Amino acid sequence: MTEEIRRQVVIIGSGPAGLTAAIYAARANLKPLLIDAPADTEKQTTPGGQLMITTEVENYPGFAEGIQGPDLMIQFRAQAERFGTEFLEEWITKVDFSERPFKLYTDNTVVKAETLIIASGASAKWLGIPGEAKTPHGFGGNGVSACATCDGPLPAFRNKRLVVVGGGDTAMEEATFLTRYASRVFVVHRRDKLRASKIMQDKAFRNEKLEFIWNTGLEEILGTQEQGVTGVRLRDVHTGKTRDFECEGVFIAIGHKPNTDLFKGQLEMDAVGYIKTLGHSMATNVPGVFACGDVQDSVYRQAITAAGTGCMAAIDAERFLDHLPIVMPTGEEVTIEGEHLPADHSVIIMPTGEVVSNEPSPPTMEDC
Ligand code: NAP
Repeated sequence: MTEEIRRQVVIIGSGPAGLTAAIYAARANLKPLLIDAPADTEKQTTPGGQLMITTEVENYPGFAEGIQGPDLMIQFRAQAERFGTEFLEEWITKVDFSERPFKLYTDNTVVKAETLIIASGASAKWLGIPGEAKTPHGFGGNGVSACATCDGPLPAFRNKRLVVVGGGDTAMEEATFLTRYASRVFVVHRRDKLRASKIMQDKAFRNEKLEFIWNTGLEEILGTQEQGVTGVRLRDVHTGKTRDFECEGVFIAIGHKPNTDLFKGQLEMDAVGYIKTLGHSMATNVPGVFACGDVQDSVYRQAITAAGTGCMAAIDAERFLDHLPIVMPTGEEVTIEGEHLPADHSVIIMPTGEVVSNEPSPPTMEDC
């Protein structure tokens, strides 16, 4: 028997964005339902998001002495529960955004949502090489990381030789950041050209603590459980020759994959798969569907920015249910009745980065 649940606000995802949206929606008496996938090591799903696999979080405001990632997420969840958020731990297999209420299908339940907040996050991409898995199967969390901002300042990486893998903006940003703490940072890239933007490349090339190892892949991460990482096995992509290289930490920075496969064909996304929310709100191209956190952010990707956009999405959903207009990614405003209002005189950031005003042009002589 399939159970049917109907709610004013449904949230997908239980990281900082989803739980902050839940806190705001619950305090607004909207009785949100938060759906998240059950923990599954094979499918690599972790309720609570990426902070559940982080150790110390030193940059979340309000915790002067730092806090462990999982402890922070326990607090987020308790706060959402305190105001009456309900939780459903099931895999969503299909969504239908063709009309409101939006429909979300799991194996046992059909959830009907007047508004939907997508906060399904993003997952760091991994190389899939020996030594990369989480400790004790590898050195993940014991010298191997996919987040320099989270882990770089930890004592384990200070004054050490560190390797960063990748040639995009993330790799340049992480490598440059790590030079603040490391004795030397080596960027290992599989080609002889970077994919990163010119400005990030220039910054990295100017940094004297940074060295590039071109046309090279990582074949294995070496070490012991007692010492952690002691080196990496590198492979020259042209000659196939391998060599061992000494280092004490490895940062994998080959990009993130937003968790948006479920919404393909129903929501507008960029080329990588991030949901587009380009207006002065967290609205997507479907009125009543909002997105927040890493699922729509390829630039900042911090717990605090995710929480901030979660708050924005909940306020947007509340406004929408209150028949107030919401700014769409195009700049036009839409109400819950489907009414399209003239765009306000605001500024819109285009996907190209260009900043344009949607203020109507001043009347010309011909208009008079
Ligand atoms: P990305 O642009 O896709 O770059 C990924 C890099 O990793 C590429 O250099 C790629 O090599 C390499 N790579 C991918 N798979 C690999 C594998 N299996 N083995 C070895 N190397 C592999 O990802 P990103 O750097 O995370 O950037 C994603 C988006 O976020 C971009 O649009 C970027 O501009 C944006 N971003 C912006 C900022 C910022 O503005 N501050 C910061 C970070 C990210 P190839 O080059 O050979 O393909």
